[in-house]
Amino acid sequence: MYAGMTADRAASTASGGNRRIDLRSDTVTQPTEAMREAMARAEVGDDVYGEDYTVRALEEKVAGLMGKEAAVYVSSGTQSNLLGVLSHCQRGEEYLIGDVYHVFKSEALGTSVLGGVACYPMKTDAGGGLDPAQVKAGIKPDDPHSPITRLLCLENTVSGRVQEQDRIEALAETAHAAGLAVHMDGARLMNAVVKTGRPAADLVRSIDTVSLCLSKGLGAPVGSVLSGPKDFIKRARRMRKMLGGGMRQAGVIAAAGLHALDHHVERLAEDHANARRLAEGLAAIPGLTVDLDAVDTNMLFIQPKPDDIDPLRAHLAERGIVLSGQRPKIRVVTHLDVTEQDVDRVLEAVGEFYRGR
Ligand SMILES: *Cc1c(COP(=O)(O)O)cnc(C)c1O
Repeated sequence: MYAGMTADRAASTASGGNRRIDLRSDTVTQPTEAMREAMARAEVGDDVYGEDYTVRALEEKVAGLMGKEAAVYVSSGTQSNLLGVLSHCQRGEEYLIGDVYHVFKSEALGTSVLGGVACYPMKTDAGGGLDPAQVKAGIKPDDPHSPITRLLCLENTVSGRVQEQDRIEALAETAHAAGLAVHMDGARLMNAVVKTGRPAADLVRSIDTVSLCLSKGLGAPVGSVLSGPKDFIKRARRMRKMLGGGMRQAGVIAAAGLHALDHHVERLAEDHANARRLAEGLAAIPGLTVDLDAVDTNMLFIQPKPDDIDPLRAHLAERGIVLSGQRPKIRVVTHLDVTEQDVDRVLEAVGEFYRGR
């Protein structure tokens, strides 16, 4: 271990006044000591041979949580969604998706590049939702001029917003009635589970394949799990190998995922409470716009005046608080490594900035 690495870790995890508070994303969480112990103790084997006990336990656990037949452990949410879409669609086929969803916007369109699958983005409403009528209208006729529409791709949560369950059911029903399958990018599905108090299996009952990220608010250092029917997961497993995603003694990292599911789900409620309190506190500061209605789980969006953005980021950086570089709206995310006291520190630092304007 080199010295800088130790210092970085100390800076991001130590308690005390100058502890770094990173609000850019819930991907920045550090594995806890207990998680590191679980990783160190993990029983491992060669997962490509299907002999890693820990990976298999994680896959079985997530499949059970989602109420699906099978699951496959993968390196990232992007890989999970890619395998999900490609397990449904062949070259020349198409999927429908919301235009703000991660699979369309933030995964280098691997589905098209690697799968030869066309993607049909549809405008989402302010809450990140789609309408069944859009799905109906998006499905192409069986005609040589068009690709074959095969799949509807949903997301939950969308920018921290829990999607209305009735709407999800209606969307899935519309898709299924037309012979489409439904994939859900549930990167932060457990935030929706904690927020609604409903089991994951309930939220994805009408969904065919679902991807869950372990490395977001759940706090694992790496990994996602794709769940679905046995034959789809079998196909996904072959494609995972093809993409170079077959891992060997992966139980070392899968153990972190198991630990996260056992210990970090209920506590997401703390992240939600922290996001809410942070949003309300920031909204009360003159000069700063915060959309309080959009705060459902662990995300909020603040909109400083354009000229204030860089000075505000610099002011916070000097105080160990890291904001993302987005504009005009800046996403602020709470997570495992943001405490109630951190929320106070952020409110104080932002308040100080605006008092000086
Ligand atoms: C983070 C994220 C993913 C997957 O991201 P990876 O960085 O590839 O793990 C997928 N969908 C959503 C909504 C996400 O936030």
